[in-house]
Amino acid sequence: MIQITFPDNSIKEFEKGSTPLQIAEKISSQLAREIVAATVNSEAWDITRPIDENATLQLHKFESKEGKHAFWHSSAHLMAEALQELYPGIKFGIGPAIENGFYYDVDAGDRVIAEKDLAAIENKMLELARGKQEFERKDVSKQEALDYFAAKDEIYKVELINDLEDGTITYYTQGNFTDLCRGPHIANSEIIKAVKLLNIAGAYWRGDEKRKQLTRIYGISFPKKKMLDEYLELLEQAKLRDHRKIGKEMELFMFSQRVGQGLPMWLPKGTLLRERLEQFLKNVQRKHGYQQVMTPHIGQKELYVTSGHYAKYGKDSFQPIHTPAEGEEFLLKPMNCPHHCEIYKFKPRSYKDLPLRLAEFGTVYRYEQSGELHGLTRVRGFTQDDAHIFCTPEQLKEEFCKVIDIIFHIFKALDFKEFEAQVSLRDKSNTEKYIGSDENWEKAERAIIEAAAEKGLETVVEYGEAAFYGPKLDFMIKDAIGRRWQLGTIQVDYNLPERFDLEYIGSDDQRHRPVMIHRAPFGSMERFVAVLIEHTGGKFPLWLTPEQAVVIPVSEKYNDYAKKVLNLLNNSDIRTLVDERNEKVGKKIRDNELKRIPYLIIVGENEANDGTISVRKQGEGDKGVMKTEDFIAQFSQEVEEMMK
Ligand SMILES: [Zn+2]
Ligand SMILES: [Zn+2]
Repeated sequence: MIQITFPDNSIKEFEKGSTPLQIAEKISSQLAREIVAATVNSEAWDITRPIDENATLQLHKFESKEGKHAFWHSSAHLMAEALQELYPGIKFGIGPAIENGFYYDVDAGDRVIAEKDLAAIENKMLELARGKQEFERKDVSKQEALDYFAAKDEIYKVELINDLEDGTITYYTQGNFTDLCRGPHIANSEIIKAVKLLNIAGAYWRGDEKRKQLTRIYGISFPKKKMLDEYLELLEQAKLRDHRKIGKEMELFMFSQRVGQGLPMWLPKGTLLRERLEQFLKNVQRKHGYQQVMTPHIGQKELYVTSGHYAKYGKDSFQPIHTPAEGEEFLLKPMNCPHHCEIYKFKPRSYKDLPLRLAEFGTVYRYEQSGELHGLTRVRGFTQDDAHIFCTPEQLKEEFCKVIDIIFHIFKALDFKEFEAQVSLRDKSNTEKYIGSDENWEKAERAIIEAAAEKGLETVVEYGEAAFYGPKLDFMIKDAIGRRWQLGTIQVDYNLPERFDLEYIGSDDQRHRPVMIHRAPFGSMERFVAVLIEHTGGKFPLWLTPEQAVVIPVSEKYNDYAKKVLNLLNNSDIRTLVDERNEKVGKKIRDNELKRIPYLIIVGENEANDGTISVRKQGEGDKGVMKTEDFIAQFSQEVEEMMK
């Protein structure tokens, strides 16, 4: 018998050689039907693979990360099998599972696989899936693997095998298809009930542009047809909310090939939006004792050697800038922290100066491969809503509480209702790889956990996810259509104070090292505006939106009255414009709704005579006739409610 320890620490005995599937069957037949993968002693495991010794066991359903991974990775094998049948002699590169689905890189020789061929591949996959093909695992020697794939002229697989060590190689076979693979895989193909191949792209073999370009086919699959339908519906909705599309429609930002890829430029309306966001944040931060600073966009190479950023970003960053005469080397700044450390050192600091909170909307530059760039979410130049808090170890908890307060305030004002946070702690079994004393680590980790608990923040704790220089708290939000977005972070740092030799004089008259907290609740303005657009579909919160109201006269006769209303509203700080175009009122309403202006104010004969306005609200329709003063009062109250 062997002892199996489950995640709740309960232990049960099973026959030696039991598989996770057999174990699940003993627990419940429902569970056995639902599991698709397992983890045995921290190793990914097929549910049909025997367990021969005492072990810890986790069972994964499709819904889990591990379950999806095994399911989608198995679907990649299934697609490969279908391709092999439809395109005999096709060669295979790699075929991993990804965040949403899977892909396979293939070389079809002279044949071209195009969008129009995808349906036939999907059908072949489903036909094979119904055959209930089992995924069988086999250990092979390196020589055996080389001989097998060389005989099939699978040049890419042969190259991969040459990089592997003997004794670590496994095959998986289902039906007529055998792949070099570590696994794990689902038990059999029958549970793949729905497949959609989403798109085709070119991909260089091993990401090397000097090597052959293969064809990458992306797909996704599910155990239920309904799940696929829901996913495709989500994709449709996501398309409508795509921040690149809305950014263009609303004239918020642009890219220019001549300026350079990954370098966004903010148009007047987008700039207004961004300035308003920055102003909002500055106000909140000022109330929490932050002080704004400004630092240059470049710094001497030595600065980043001192900070350690050169080792991290140097090689993969942009080339240094050289001065013509002095032979100096500068780098575009990848981070604001080194500059802020130097500001800390401007004068001797005492414990009475702490916490010192330095904030900057600091623009940084990081090289990203062109294939990785995406709208405002992956760019090469971006502005962080950055701040660094220098404090004593004892002040950590209170500072974390304050940062969490700020973040709550921001999420409320921006209408993000669902969010969670991840606490990343040390791997306690491997403490040598972290800098800073055990005592300080424990203090910091406890501070984060207690602060989160005190503030009622929902958290997931991950051991071993901390950076080598300190634990952290990361925020994730859920948007209006249920997608998760990683936003900002609060990070404790024992490293930079050490590297920059930062000190303060304590109440004991001795020198001490301060702790540093990096925090950027939005992450970057670019990323945050992108998330905000995708969350709201461009219908920004009233206080933030660049244009809050538009006055629409029903005909030219009422243009003068419209302007009178416009002045009243603008004087009350309601950002308003007037639509004087000689168009039908219905068209004007539609056009302005498309521009996502929240309030449409319609004025005609009755309104001009009575000194009133007719109000329509975006998404809510007719709000009736009212006095302009009443509208102004209601409007201010609505804004105040959000900013509370
Ligand atoms: Zn595989
Ligand atoms: Zn920093």
